[in-house]
Amino acid sequence: GTQKFHRVAEYVDQLIKKKNGRARPPGAPHRAMDDLRFSIVDIEEEAGSQSTIRDQQLTLGQATAFVSIMQGCNMHCTFCIVPHTRGAERSRSIGEIVAEVRDLVSRGVKEVSLLGQIVNLYGRHEFAKVDNKSPFVQLLEGVHEVEGLERLRFTSPHPIGFRDDLIDAISRLPKLAEHVHLPLQSGSSKILKAMHRAYTAEKYLDLVERIRRARDGVAITTDIIVGFPGETDEDYRQTRDLVEEIQFDNAFVFRYSPRRDTPAAKIPDQIDERLKEERNQDLLEIVNKSNRRILERLVGSHVEVLCEGPSKTNSARLMGRTRTNKIVVFPHSPKRHPDESDELVGELLNVRIERANGFSLYGMPC
Ligand code: SF4
Repeated sequence: GTQKFHRVAEYVDQLIKKKNGRARPPGAPHRAMDDLRFSIVDIEEEAGSQSTIRDQQLTLGQATAFVSIMQGCNMHCTFCIVPHTRGAERSRSIGEIVAEVRDLVSRGVKEVSLLGQIVNLYGRHEFAKVDNKSPFVQLLEGVHEVEGLERLRFTSPHPIGFRDDLIDAISRLPKLAEHVHLPLQSGSSKILKAMHRAYTAEKYLDLVERIRRARDGVAITTDIIVGFPGETDEDYRQTRDLVEEIQFDNAFVFRYSPRRDTPAAKIPDQIDERLKEERNQDLLEIVNKSNRRILERLVGSHVEVLCEGPSKTNSARLMGRTRTNKIVVFPHSPKRHPDESDELVGELLNVRIERANGFSLYGMPC
C-alpha cells in the first residue's frame, strides 16, 4: 500500500538484486519482473507512516495541492481491498496538517484537498470531540484559518461520517468549495447491507438533501458499483431510480470486479459480465445526461476559475476548475510570450462561460 511509498527505492534495489542473482529457468517469463519469484509484497502496517510523505515538490505556478491527513480504513466494505493493503486508520495531528497547508500556501498554493480513505472520519480513534465537533470538523476549521488559502476540498468521505457538525461546517465555512464527492455504491438497501455499507438508500437521499440545503449550488458527485454479487434487476432498478432522482453532477460507475480475499468475492451469486456491462452503460447514460444538463445551465454565467495550467487535450489553451470542480478551458493571456509560462497560471479568474461540450466548459476570462 501507499504507506510504504517512501521505501520504493529500497524495494527496487532488492528486486534488482534478486533478479540478477538468479538465472532464468526454461519457460520462465522473459520480462523477469513479471515473475512472481521476483516480486515483493509488503502490506505490514508501518508505525507512523501517515506522517512520512510530507515533502511536497511544487511546480512553477502550482496552485492546487493534495494533503494526506490519514491512512487506512476500518470500515471493511465487503468488496474492498483497502483495509487489507493499507491497514487500520491512523491520522496525523491537526497541528501537523495545518503546518503543511500553511507551508504550501506560503509557496503559492491556493487550493488544498484533504485526502483520506474515509476522510470525514479522520481522527475518530485518536482525538476527542471538542464542543461537540468531530476531529474532522476541528481540522476543517484549523485549515480554514490559514491566511491566503482560497479553497478547501476533501475526498473521499463516507456517508456515515456526515453528522450535523459537518453539515453545519459546510454551511458556515466559506472556503469549503461547493463540491461534495459522496460515494453511493448502490441504490438498493439490500445490496448496501451486503456491501457492509452502514446506511440505506433513504438515508443517503436524506443526506444529499441536507447537504444541498446547507450550501447553495453545491455539486454532488458519486461512485457506484453495478453488478455486485446478488444484484437483481429490481436492485439495479432501485439504483437507477435513485440516480435519476438525485441528478448527480457526475459519477464514476464501476462494474463490480472481485478482489482476492474479500468477502464479496466468495459470494456464490456472481453476476454475468455482459449484464454488468449493460447496467454500466445504462447508468452512464443517465449520469452523462444530468452532467450535460448541469453544465449547460452554466452557459452565459460568470464563474470563479482557479487556473491550473495548459489544457491536457489542447496545450494551446489553459484549463482550471470552478469551485464546483467543473473543468473550464479558456485562451491564454493575450500578453503572454510564447516561450514563457502564462501569468494566468495559478490565478483565480472570473470566466464567462460560452459553451459546454462533453465534460468541459469553455469560456473567456473577463
Ligand atoms: S470502500 Fe472506502 S470505506 Fe469501504 S473499506 Fe474501502 S476504503 Fe474503507
